[in-house]
Amino acid sequence: MNVLERRQKAYQNSNGICILCNQPILSHEKWSVEHFIPRAIYKWIQKPEVELQVESAANLFAVHMDCNLKKDAEIPTVNTINSLNVSQTIKDELLLVYREIYDSIEQYRSMKQSVWAKQECSCAFCKKRIRLVKATLRRINNQLERTRENAMCLCFHCSLKASHPEYKKKMVDKKQLSK
Ligand SMILES: [Zn+2]
Ligand SMILES: [Zn+2]
Repeated sequence: MNVLERRQKAYQNSNGICILCNQPILSHEKWSVEHFIPRAIYKWIQKPEVELQVESAANLFAVHMDCNLKKDAEIPTVNTINSLNVSQTIKDELLLVYREIYDSIEQYRSMKQSVWAKQECSCAFCKKRIRLVKATLRRINNQLERTRENAMCLCFHCSLKASHPEYKKKMVDKKQLSK
């Protein structure tokens, strides 16, 4: 699928409604393609078959750009899939994808939870306490692989700022996070 086909498929799957706020996407509104089962799973649990499933058409939905920015880093469950405001056919397809890669999703979930618990449920940068669903898993050192040893949890605000590699490196050094 090329970029345009992916956008069309995402829009169709969502029936023109943002899956995060359940409001229609109006023609003047900016929207993006959302992977309901997040790409983070195949980035951290590196298996080609997981990447294929996460990138499959059934996992693509349309969301407002603004809604996407405010979204929790919650990992999907059967319940969150069933509560999606999309057709049953789409849900069934997505549930198949979910079941296919369930073990990897659980592995990712447990990695994120253990990193978060190790940090005493707080953001590695600002040290504010965060709920697990608000925590984003990030690499400590961008030069190294995504492994549990090279992982940290950040709050939403810090994870946005950490998209700038310079800032991230400065903070990692300051907080003495790298091993
Ligand atoms: Zn929305
Ligand atoms: Zn923070």
